[in-house]
Amino acid sequence: MDKKIYLDNAATTQTRLEVVEAMLPYFNEKYGNPSSVYEFASQSKKAVTEARDTIAKAINASSNEIYFTGGGSESDNWALKCTAEAYKEKGNHIITSKIEHHAILHTCEYLEKNGFEITYLDVDENGSVNLEQLKAAIRPTTILISIMFANNEIGTIQPIKEIGEIAKANGILFHTDAVQAFAQVEIDVNELNIDMLSASGHKINGPKGIGFLYIRTGLKLRSLIHGGAQERRRRAGTENVPGIVGFGKAVEIAMATLKERQETEIALRDYMIDRVLAEIPYTRLNGDRRNRLPNNMNFSFQFIEGESLLIMLDMQGICGSSGSACTSGSLDPSHVLLAIGLPHEIAHGSLRLTLSHDTTKEDLDYTIEKVKEIVAKLREMSPLYEDFLKKHSR
Ligand SMILES: *Cc1c(COP(=O)(O)O)cnc(C)c1O
Repeated sequence: MDKKIYLDNAATTQTRLEVVEAMLPYFNEKYGNPSSVYEFASQSKKAVTEARDTIAKAINASSNEIYFTGGGSESDNWALKCTAEAYKEKGNHIITSKIEHHAILHTCEYLEKNGFEITYLDVDENGSVNLEQLKAAIRPTTILISIMFANNEIGTIQPIKEIGEIAKANGILFHTDAVQAFAQVEIDVNELNIDMLSASGHKINGPKGIGFLYIRTGLKLRSLIHGGAQERRRRAGTENVPGIVGFGKAVEIAMATLKERQETEIALRDYMIDRVLAEIPYTRLNGDRRNRLPNNMNFSFQFIEGESLLIMLDMQGICGSSGSACTSGSLDPSHVLLAIGLPHEIAHGSLRLTLSHDTTKEDLDYTIEKVKEIVAKLREMSPLYEDFLKKHSR
């Protein structure tokens, strides 16, 4: 099978060729340590500075508010653990949502074991947090609100501006996991009152193992990783220079093409959503119909197992996901799909497909045909479907 249609861009993306080319010299030619004093190393230092400037500009931050990390998970851990530590005199309460990425949820569980109290906000059937519930959850001891910008499974974009306003009005810090949203939708940390923001290179056609945490000037946050004085004494470890350069290049391209990518991806996404819902019966779309990431589709097909669908799509050269990559391998349905109120059996029949800038209409036409065929085939073999047909033919 030569055909490969990659529709799992929420799991990771292809590193762009221009990004790889920008990185190459920093492995083998310009390999100096940015902390060294000689002229040779200043090339590396300059490259890191340029990437930092590009990234800061992309979210309207200043360059000295961007801290490079080993990826989105580290940024999330840092924001939560070190805010908790720095502000524990003020209080021990943190508010988050039930549909966060595990980098947030598991860090919250860790903090709970260490004396912090966490409120996990519900979401509605589209995956949005309720602002009244958020306000009601605030206590005098609340030190942090951490709500993701956009969900990695169902694509729903949260009311970030309103959340930022609520946090600010109550003197509470606001962190957002923007790993899926960064460089896919417009973000202005000042306009949105965001105090900390996590992002990752490999979700936006950059390299893996590089991310950043934006930390607003004035926050007390200390280090998660202790050691040398890199990143203005806040994140030790010799800078991943090739990774940083590649991340910078990926951001530069992503920001330059943002508008046109959004338009193309939204058109393709809506084309496929409309066709799937019209042509495959007993199917639902998960996540907000309009207020969602341009590249995200998430369907539930009644009476079938998402895992079987994935395997059969794979045999046709199509890469998708049935939940988040981190949970595949376990039999539990996705915590996100359960949080939006899907019963277990429907959550199990789910398929996430996420587009990239180079997905074509032909790719989607082929995928729609294959999904139709396979869903029909799996339903033919499904006892649940047989029962359903019997009941409804009486
Ligand atoms: C992928 C992802 C992460 C983790 O980022 P890594 O760079 O893979 O560590 C965190 N949050 C969300 C929403 C993600 O999609």
